[in-house]
Amino acid sequence: MSLIVQKFGGTSVATSEKIMGAARKAIRAQQQGHQVVMVVSAMGKQTDVLVDLARQITEQPPAREMDMLLSTGEQVSVALMAMAIHALGGQAVSLTGGQIGIKTDSSHTKARIQSISSERMRKHLDDGHIVIAAGFQGVDDDYNITTLGRGGSDTTAVALAAVLRADSCEIYTDVDGVFTTDPRIVPSARKMERVSHDEMLELASLGAGVMHSRSIEFGKKFDVPIHVRNSASFSDEPGSIIGNLPESSDRAVSGCALTKNEARISLTGVPDKPGTMHRIFSRLATVNIAVDMIVQNIGAAGVADIAFTVLETDLPAALKTVGEAARELGGEVSHDANLSKVSVVGLGMATQTGVADRMFRALADARVNIQAISTSQIKISALVERAQGMEALRAVHDEFELEKPPQSRASFGDGATKVERPSPVDVVSRLQRMEDLTIDDIRLDQTQGRITISQLPDSPGIAAEIFEAVAAESLLVDMIVQGAGRDGLANLSFTVPRDAVLQAVGVAMDAADRLGCGPVSSDATIAILSVFGVGIRTHVGVGARMFKALSEAGINVEMINTSEVRVNVVVAADKGEAGLKALRTAFADVMG
Ligand code: ADP
Ligand code: ASP
Ligand code: MG
Repeated sequence: MSLIVQKFGGTSVATSEKIMGAARKAIRAQQQGHQVVMVVSAMGKQTDVLVDLARQITEQPPAREMDMLLSTGEQVSVALMAMAIHALGGQAVSLTGGQIGIKTDSSHTKARIQSISSERMRKHLDDGHIVIAAGFQGVDDDYNITTLGRGGSDTTAVALAAVLRADSCEIYTDVDGVFTTDPRIVPSARKMERVSHDEMLELASLGAGVMHSRSIEFGKKFDVPIHVRNSASFSDEPGSIIGNLPESSDRAVSGCALTKNEARISLTGVPDKPGTMHRIFSRLATVNIAVDMIVQNIGAAGVADIAFTVLETDLPAALKTVGEAARELGGEVSHDANLSKVSVVGLGMATQTGVADRMFRALADARVNIQAISTSQIKISALVERAQGMEALRAVHDEFELEKPPQSRASFGDGATKVERPSPVDVVSRLQRMEDLTIDDIRLDQTQGRITISQLPDSPGIAAEIFEAVAAESLLVDMIVQGAGRDGLANLSFTVPRDAVLQAVGVAMDAADRLGCGPVSSDATIAILSVFGVGIRTHVGVGARMFKALSEAGINVEMINTSEVRVNVVVAADKGEAGLKALRTAFADVMG
């Protein structure tokens, strides 16, 4: 018998009428012959109301008690949903996270799922019940209630779909599907028919609030078909499918997103030697803070400058931790809040030139100053002032004409990665460590060289000018990192294939002359070490583990960029092999 999971978000259960509407959908699915598991969020903005109540009592509520409080929102909805189904003549049973057997670790307010037992749900399903599961919650080994982080009901839904080997996981929300960007900020945004897991992972972690990014990790790991659709539509209007395929195979950019609440921490004058990054980032990992846009300046006079971004909500804890590290290492800590990050994402970007320059030009034309840049194979992010965030998002959405449907649709066989659905045995063994880190591969790339332009003026249009000159020569740029400048002067580094380094240096020197910055330096032979996995940026320990392994091998990290599926570090060419060996040893226990 087929089984479907249907998840209803806050707005979709905000009133008793909406709860009845959701109950009808579930009953209809059951009448069509499916077993049905519903996953339900707290009603409307109830979680925000509870957060606010806690803040009225104390600025820093204990995390355990916060989870105790927040989990009540979902408990209300599951009970009402079960009553609704009974009232409509159906049979249903509501279950909390603990009753289902969703075991998590003990990191309150951002817990990760460790295992889920399916027996109790199966028994109720076989008895003809609709199972109504409370989203967003679990219990740790000591039966403390935990929550999975804001928006975490999506993750509950996809995780339940994975353990139950569901035929589909439907996410009912208040928009028609996944759009090219948030339709509430950019009204011309277009609903996408499909989005690939990798693109959705990036979009979700870069601010596309429609899905909790960790739910996509499950979708990818366990190959769960996810269908995002509108709960308000009466007809069975198709939404968006998140799966193995992108929507189109010819587009460089598929979507864009904005993370509004970013803050940057800068450390200046830290010792430029192996182990520095490790000391800082392992401490941050211990307190479970995810770090992004890490920029390290090529050191001068034995000291380096490091900057990175964290979510503004993590800023106080991050500052405390980094302050401790700075006292040990030396160096000064400063920070800026009121920043936002605008990003473009697309699988096609990995093989097409001329994406960076277009994005930077669009921002320059909108008079938006770029404060930092970081890239991965399938995304480019720029840090901007918060007041300009929405305008920046609109500018890039327009530039890449995302409102227009793509010319061609992707199908299997045109380069898209078709993932084999894992065998049931495989799934069962992997489900025992549901949200554990798995690393798929570790690679060494010795084909690239680095160019660095220092002392860029901090004003709009500089990055656009440089990358337009680079694109005019059809140079395929791989990593770009900009930021961490002293006295308002930023540094910009990028990598190109080794045989193009000389040409790129020429272009960079001309541009530096025109813009009155520089000097330009280069290293024609660098090594890039990459760790591949799923959700590895949100697994905060990955960077720390990499830095530790490299520092113990006496290897200095020159550049770094992170994404949800890959972390890259640049090291000296003659350290490539040793670095590869060190990383393979360090991650041996989590290689998938
Ligand atoms: P739910 O309560 O159903 O989980 P959310 O508020 O978490 O709903 O997510 C839906 C919201 O996500 C939409 O109302 C929309 O404003 C926002 N959103 C952000 N980015 C996107 C995107 N790329 N596509 C669709 N919606 C998006
Ligand atoms: N109710 C929780 C929240 O608002 C979880 C969710 O809705 O996904 O974050
Ligand atoms: Mg949500």
